[in-house]
Amino acid sequence: MCAHMKEDEFSEWYNTLIENAELSDKRYPVKGMNVWTPYGWRIMTNIDAAIRRELDATGHGEVCFPLLVPATEFEKEAQHIKGFSDEVYWVTRAGGNELDVPLLLRPTSETAMYPIFKLWIRSHADLPLKTYQIVNVFRYDTKMTRSFIRVREIHFFESHTCHVDFEDAERQIAENLEIWSKVSKDLALPYMVAKRPEWDKFPGAFYTIGFDVLMPTGRTMQMASIHQYKTNFAVPYEITYEDEKGEHQHVHQTTYGMSERLVGAIIAVHGDDKGIVLPPVVAPHQVVVVPIFRKDDAEEVLGAARQLAEELDEAGIRVKMDDRDLRPGEKYYHWERRGVPLRLELGPRDMKHGQVMVAIRDTGEKAAVRRDEIVGRVEEMLAEMQWRMLDKAEKDLRERITDLPDIPYGFELEDVGRVGWCGEEDCATQMEVNLEVVFLGEDMDMKGPAIERCTTCGGTARMTAYVSKTY
Ligand code: ZN
Repeated sequence: MCAHMKEDEFSEWYNTLIENAELSDKRYPVKGMNVWTPYGWRIMTNIDAAIRRELDATGHGEVCFPLLVPATEFEKEAQHIKGFSDEVYWVTRAGGNELDVPLLLRPTSETAMYPIFKLWIRSHADLPLKTYQIVNVFRYDTKMTRSFIRVREIHFFESHTCHVDFEDAERQIAENLEIWSKVSKDLALPYMVAKRPEWDKFPGAFYTIGFDVLMPTGRTMQMASIHQYKTNFAVPYEITYEDEKGEHQHVHQTTYGMSERLVGAIIAVHGDDKGIVLPPVVAPHQVVVVPIFRKDDAEEVLGAARQLAEELDEAGIRVKMDDRDLRPGEKYYHWERRGVPLRLELGPRDMKHGQVMVAIRDTGEKAAVRRDEIVGRVEEMLAEMQWRMLDKAEKDLRERITDLPDIPYGFELEDVGRVGWCGEEDCATQMEVNLEVVFLGEDMDMKGPAIERCTTCGGTARMTAYVSKTY
């Protein structure tokens, strides 16, 4: 989607794509708590698998902490409570009894984990402690809900690490940035990295880095974030270790969060008029085989199609054989809406010519591939599609970023702006008001030139920053 979409147009398109692909059922009788369908859930778990691969490869251990957090633990870090208290779901009764200490459903898991980290960490030999979990969190968000983008029960990834000092925690953040650059390739999602301004950091954090995706409306959406906590949680939760000299020190901590918004971002960035388009790495079925047969040649064609599917399966390709009793056209439509990367059609004529027809979902092209080369070609075409989807979206994003050394009178920003900023909050606020945008923070990957002067006051810019409307 390169053309601009109006908000209501986007909403309708986005919801229709989700319904047609049957990714989620919104009829569950609690608002903002949707049902994952088998197909939608498979996309999510494939994304989880991509994340797990990177976290496991960097020495993180997967954990699973309880859902309920006692109020007494939640209330230990003042900023954190302030940031989340309006969004918390409470459990105050169990059976017929009022609970002495009310429990809350985790909105994120710092307050569940850190009392236990305090027990796990004794000496510097226990550090770094690198953990993550993939669980559901609950946030009573009062804004309008939207599948995958704004929900109240959120499928969530969170990593939590503890380190001997600030420098080691900083190294972890560099590693997290590297992890994100790999995961985003698997998801074919280009992004902007912004160090959030002081007033927009995560509650309790020393600083926050956000990863934003540009949506078809020109608004950006945060897909992931990394937080440097310093000792902001370690002090109230008393997470200490004994250093080499036998002295007690507080650990330094980082976290890293992502959510089902990644599914929403893939739908929004790659979807087209026919439906969703899935990057091969996360697609539940990378290939669908559609046999084209009549009554008199059914047995022969179905046999050949099953043989083809089997060969692809043996090569480790996720393949779906569609031998339902439906017309081929209906099947094409069905799988197009579901974003399956490649559709292989096999009929008597193809068999006679020793070929298979391949329809490519993102470009809409069709190609005849020799039957004896099909497995290798499918592998190549999937890899090409993965790369092409990212490349196209990356180009689209870069084209829609406008450098703003100043703001001409009456200027209206369509997508993302890059501005110079002197560091004064007033200057940032002025930009937010003039452009009707949110100040996203410092551009950390600097794919464009530095903007030398503050866009508002003309003073020396301390940084180049992103601004945009947001979700
Ligand atoms: Zn300024």
